[in-house]
Amino acid sequence: MTTPPRIPGRRFLHSPGPTPVPDEVLHAMSRQPMDMGDPRVDAVIAACENGLKRLLQTEAADVFFYASNGHGVWEAVVQNLIPPGGAALVPGTGHFSESWAVQTEALGRRVVRTPWHEGWPIDPAAVTQALRDDRAHEIAAVFVVHTDTSSGITSDLAALRAAIDAADHPALFVVDVVASLAAEPFDMDALRADAAVGASQKGLMCPPGVGFVAVNAPAFEAAQRNPAPRYYWDFVPRKSGLSYRKFCGTPPQNLLAGLQAALQLLHREGLPNVLARHRQLAGLVHAAVEGWRDGGALDFFAREPASRSSAVTTVTVPPGTDVDALRAVAREDFQVAFAGALGPLHGRGFRIGHLGDQNPAGLLGCLAVVEAALCVQGIPVGAGGVQRAVLALAQMERSGPR
Ligand SMILES: *Cc1c(COP(=O)(O)O)cnc(C)c1O
Repeated sequence: MTTPPRIPGRRFLHSPGPTPVPDEVLHAMSRQPMDMGDPRVDAVIAACENGLKRLLQTEAADVFFYASNGHGVWEAVVQNLIPPGGAALVPGTGHFSESWAVQTEALGRRVVRTPWHEGWPIDPAAVTQALRDDRAHEIAAVFVVHTDTSSGITSDLAALRAAIDAADHPALFVVDVVASLAAEPFDMDALRADAAVGASQKGLMCPPGVGFVAVNAPAFEAAQRNPAPRYYWDFVPRKSGLSYRKFCGTPPQNLLAGLQAALQLLHREGLPNVLARHRQLAGLVHAAVEGWRDGGALDFFAREPASRSSAVTTVTVPPGTDVDALRAVAREDFQVAFAGALGPLHGRGFRIGHLGDQNPAGLLGCLAVVEAALCVQGIPVGAGGVQRAVLALAQMERSGPR
């Protein structure tokens, strides 16, 4: 077998997760594992807990880590927060709300759904109504996907908090921030979110493999009261000073060292600047899509501009478009990886990830390659998508520091 040729230059990763890992994070992970009793292990864990709490803007919650992906921490909140015979209300956002709902049902819990309106964020009035209809208070928690990574739509969490309050219902407010943390504002305490679930491989700029749940006192007490059988996922023993108990076994030390470094990078940049950078990068993508859609074939999936996520943009394509072929041209011939659309949107669009360790240079390169690949595939694009992104960048710069 011959060795495949080396591909020169950087390959650009614009999937909405996993996302590129900064060199500082890669270097931080390149170390020998430590003895479990080494106080340096505890120091790494404490730095991750504190750095994440700052990012989540919570002082009230504890952070529990799992050696898992996002699906693992979905399971953790189901097993801890929904008692046997109880229900979860899952407002429809698309692929990710439906996947979480299906997993909840697979674990033997009832799910109440609000309808998913394609192209639109969650309707808060439907959440209030579903809670009012639950007179017996069987709904133990509302599971909200903040940014649905398939649709590229971010729902308004403050409006959802108000919708739960308006129903005067005791359900816990649980938010999936897997795709939104460090890209969209999220203030856990101000929202009175009872739990937040996240994972390492998206806005946190780490490899996949660490999930977390931030849990406030009402949610922790609900877990303590909940008789559902569980062991690895149980919150209760994780509230411990001993790292072996915090992780129900050996902590993923090297991944945590990477997370510690990533959190340091984010806090050194400053959360307001991190969020402003994501808005800027989303603005470049939006400008390009505005140009492309003049060709009559492509469009934003998100109908309402305010709901377009700062993390990922979903672009619809005409029926019959071979999205996989489009992605293959960009990935194999031009070194830019972007994503297809998932679940009910499969084959109907593509997604450009712009979260994590990204900058204008990379985004402009990505957009230029996407435009070239669209041309290669004969998909009509309005002239000047990339040009609009360039002008948008210049305009944002002239109108003051981000
Ligand atoms: C990626 C993602 C998940 C699932 O995470 P995995 O690590 O792939 O299990 C859950 N929710 C959202 C919003 C996501 O973007």
